[in-house]
Amino acid sequence: MSLRDLTPAYIRAISPYQPGKPISELAREMGLDEASIVKLASNENPLGMGPRAKAAAIASFEDGARYPDGNGFELKAALSRRFNVPMAGLVLGNGSNDVLELVAHAYLAPGTSAVYSQYAFAVYPLATQAVGAHGISVPAKDYGHDLVAMRAAIEPDTRVVFIANPNNPTGTHLPQAEIEAFVASVPADVLVVLDEAYNEYLPPAERGDALALVARYPNLLVSRTFSKAYGLASLRVGYGVGHPDVIDLMNRVRQPFNVNSAALAAASAAINDDAFLAETYVLNRKGMEQLVAGIKRLGLAHIPSVANFITVQVGDAARINQSLLKQGVIVRPLAGYGMPEHLRITIGREDENARCLAALEQALKSGGGV
Ligand SMILES: *Cc1c(COP(=O)(O)O)cnc(C)c1O
Repeated sequence: MSLRDLTPAYIRAISPYQPGKPISELAREMGLDEASIVKLASNENPLGMGPRAKAAAIASFEDGARYPDGNGFELKAALSRRFNVPMAGLVLGNGSNDVLELVAHAYLAPGTSAVYSQYAFAVYPLATQAVGAHGISVPAKDYGHDLVAMRAAIEPDTRVVFIANPNNPTGTHLPQAEIEAFVASVPADVLVVLDEAYNEYLPPAERGDALALVARYPNLLVSRTFSKAYGLASLRVGYGVGHPDVIDLMNRVRQPFNVNSAALAAASAAINDDAFLAETYVLNRKGMEQLVAGIKRLGLAHIPSVANFITVQVGDAARINQSLLKQGVIVRPLAGYGMPEHLRITIGREDENARCLAALEQALKSGGGV
């Protein structure tokens, strides 16, 4: 018997999450100067942290020797005021990744199943598998979620449905009316997790108000993050909004101090920094136009996206990606998602987008293209 055999088969079957390559790693591998590297791989905010959030995080170090507020009172109060939801309906996570895992720990176990879409966020199958539940992957429709097929895929043992809206890595989006019709059609003992990590990048008229749906559907949990539009990816903080009974169960499996003090302070400041969010939104819209125009000029197809990234069909993506890395540009290959011809490019600042497009043109010229 080996040490590997001591763990359940479903743990051994997990293929680890592949994150975007860190700048420092590429610099080491290619002997490049870190400052010359453009990273458009992890949907981070090219503006960095917002000024108010940064000041709050730094100030939090005055109390750095103390444990954080394990209940996250201040951040929950700020979220509650901002979104008009009861504090008992809020759970905080070490990134919204943590929120998704809390769902898995609270609702899934061997003998149960979770439903998600093909090409949906990789954390759904991972969190499902890690607790020994069965994952049901439903074929996508035009790279997006096929809600009719997902409804039909729900089995008697299904406890959770994961929906990313907008979806990562495809950038597709479903209107709120379709989401609501789906939630209304699902059995009351199935929890629908609506992951809105990119909600802030939608045009205001399309953002919808999923938090208002939570009041009507006790089996709906909405998760959001401070990692993307709010620019706090390094601090790890996200939140879930749901019925207080759902939140109560998630809190039982939550680590007592899962969100650190700097993250709590920064997020409490970020949530009301409308100027920074607006600047982020505008930069992203302009960058999206720039990248789409550039991609079309190169004769490449892309999946229309409403988020802060765009997924492009480049042909032999592994080879194109190698060429981009050599040129100091990090994007995200999607072979792990079953999309070996696509690369996902995060929208950056104008200069970063231009560097990426120039490197892509060079990579295509040197072969390996479509
Ligand atoms: C980035 C992302 C998240 C959030 O990750 P954090 O753990 O909050 O940093 C959640 N869902 C999707 C679909 C994402 O792309």
